[in-house]
Amino acid sequence: MKTIDDFNFKNKKALIRVDFNVPLNDNFEVTDTTRIESAKPTIIKILEDGGSCILMSHLGRPKGIQEDFSLKHIIKTLENILGVEVVFSENCVGEMAENAAKKLQQGEILLLENLRFHDEEKQGNQNFAEQLSRLGDIYVNDAFGTAHRAHASTTIIADYFSGQKCFGYLLAKEIESINKVMQTGERPVLAILGGAKVSSKITIVENILDKIDHLIIGGGMTFTFIKAMGGMIGNSLVEDDKMELALEILKMAKQKNVEVHLPVDALVADAFSNEASTKVTDVNAIPDGWMGLDVGPKSILYFNDVVKSSKTILWNGPLGVFEMERFANGTIALGNSISEATKSGAFSLVGGGDSVAAVKQFGFEDKVSYVSTGGGAMLESLEGKILPGIKAILD
Ligand code: AMP
Repeated sequence: MKTIDDFNFKNKKALIRVDFNVPLNDNFEVTDTTRIESAKPTIIKILEDGGSCILMSHLGRPKGIQEDFSLKHIIKTLENILGVEVVFSENCVGEMAENAAKKLQQGEILLLENLRFHDEEKQGNQNFAEQLSRLGDIYVNDAFGTAHRAHASTTIIADYFSGQKCFGYLLAKEIESINKVMQTGERPVLAILGGAKVSSKITIVENILDKIDHLIIGGGMTFTFIKAMGGMIGNSLVEDDKMELALEILKMAKQKNVEVHLPVDALVADAFSNEASTKVTDVNAIPDGWMGLDVGPKSILYFNDVVKSSKTILWNGPLGVFEMERFANGTIALGNSISEATKSGAFSLVGGGDSVAAVKQFGFEDKVSYVSTGGGAMLESLEGKILPGIKAILD
């Protein structure tokens, strides 16, 4: 796996695919700088080598050229974070971009306008990729968030940089973290799957059963399993058409010697609301009119024990409806358990959508080993797919 450490960028122009798809407020100010900060180590290493950086990214989902989605909105934030002045090209290809790239000196940074102002980016257009490729000497992919897309700047472009392409630090770290869980992790390996539905996690379950020793199931998908096993789940979220699949998963887990841990109790509510009446019941004895919106106290203790005895931990999906304060306890407790296990030497990876949001919201970000920056890309990796953006560098 070639990373930027395998190259000396002195007098080289690095064309870097970054993920600066950051949230902006109504005044077009960046409200979460995580993605920019994550790209900093790669950019700084190249500048310190004596190279220059040409940064390319998408922002949002523009239809053609739309000012609201211009990357010029992030220039100030980018300059503040990097501590270096940034030159901006109002087009990512063509004469303007090529001239700006040509003029670039050692230690300088050029930011290109939103790649998605050209439809060819998402189409993976060869000609567009070739035009982009003219701008730099070495192609660096540091955008995990789009590595699962075969777009021009994430995948197709790599063909034009034979032997002159590599992963940036961020993407390398993502790959390494996933490999730690899926291939080289110290055992016992535990996966925790929460979230709303069985249907959205099924491919992950099928793929990871061969790689783990323990599986904790939480969140809304618990109840499809419990109902399939004959339990009473009241008005809890359920996918009736996935009950057979749930039983199949349990059978497969048994065959593969994976211990499955389901919640034993639930915090149930009489409405999907933070103001609802609540009580704790056994997970398989939820009365009609009540729905499970979080795991109960016994489950919290039970899961804590499983987490503490694991050496490698993957967490995807909250244990309850954590967006409502009263149903966030299970998710917070799990975050605490994982943090403590990490402190005692376990490797913990949090990835994919809402668990990342939960980890950030409750302040666990620095207490776990790694928080993935890519939602869809992370899920597809866990499903066992080889991401096109990663394959393109390895080829
Ligand atoms: P996912 O995107 O599949 O990881 O699902 C995340 C969502 O699952 C969050 O918005 C949670 O509120 C929701 N969720 C977690 N537990 C439950 C539950 N017991 N009932 C309904 N929704 C839940």
